[in-house]
Amino acid sequence: EYTINKIAAGEVVERPSSVVKELIENSIDAHSSKITVEIEDGGKKLIRITDNGTGIKPDEVEKAFLRHATSKILNVEDLYNLNSLGFRGEALASIASVSEVELITRTKENDFGIKICLSGGKIIKKESIGTSIGTTIIIRNLFFNTPARKKFLKSSNAETLSITDTVNKLSIGNPSIQFKYINNNKVMLTSPGDGNLKSAIRSIYGKQVFDNLIQVSSDMGFIKIDGFIGNTSIYRGNRSMQHVYVNGRYVKSTILLNSINDGYKSILPINKYGICFLNLYLNPDVIDVNIHPTKLEIKFENELQIYNVIKNTINDTLLGQTL
Ligand code: ADP
Ligand code: MG
Repeated sequence: EYTINKIAAGEVVERPSSVVKELIENSIDAHSSKITVEIEDGGKKLIRITDNGTGIKPDEVEKAFLRHATSKILNVEDLYNLNSLGFRGEALASIASVSEVELITRTKENDFGIKICLSGGKIIKKESIGTSIGTTIIIRNLFFNTPARKKFLKSSNAETLSITDTVNKLSIGNPSIQFKYINNNKVMLTSPGDGNLKSAIRSIYGKQVFDNLIQVSSDMGFIKIDGFIGNTSIYRGNRSMQHVYVNGRYVKSTILLNSINDGYKSILPINKYGICFLNLYLNPDVIDVNIHPTKLEIKFENELQIYNVIKNTINDTLLGQTL
């Protein structure tokens, strides 16, 4: 069982930022309104996520670390009507198998919490503890027992950049949640959590981006799009500022990124990429998010149609602005 978890960890937990993503998504799924992310040394030394969500019941704490233990789906049909970000029940088991974990959690029904410590997936301590409602999870010494994987980690700076990007994208995708991000004891970000996408963008990317946004909104029946795109004065040399969310889930889909770039194509200089913050809403029946454990990739039934709608929406919006 420990070995299987370690193998699965190879798929789910590629680097510190993948841990941060899975843990933040768990906090989001737990209906948190406030999530604090703290890292040290690019997450290699420490990752601490604190939320004010539902917490985990005392008798379910151990189960949360079992492979395929998920409280989020009850049957196969649920997979196609996902309302939660997690559903595989793989993340905690995988992360725990390759690190030292400390989890403290309390639900509102209990006046005490539980603290559990694991090392390499084995429980080494479990006790009752006084704590506030919600969950704190601390990951120390990631990959301490998989030296080959540890060796492939990048510099602390590079790993930090990847974590920052993850926190930014999840903050933008969840403007109702107040995010706080602390790197080596320095506060890097606090998002307002007021439910307003534009104010989240401003708090994360600053005034220049904020001042150059054009609102986008379209409803074609099978797809609804809303959000903002950058006007032609704030492009970038890469795709790092392209944010796309499908039914609230941050995705990296080739077809979607191509449609965005083709929408900007005739308008931006060559090799420049537009900035966008797009929420797409589609019927869950036409989406398959279950193709990869990290769930970043996504598949659509009607790819070409979706490609055309996004491309045209961006192109029309930009042309409308410059005419
Ligand atoms: P999944 O998210 O796919 O269900 P995980 O391994 O990420 O699987 O988490 C296992 C279970 O642990 C979740 O289904 C949930 O019940 C519980 N859990 C994990 N993190 C939290 C959290 N921050 N707050 C409340 N429950 C949590
Ligand atoms: Mg999860």
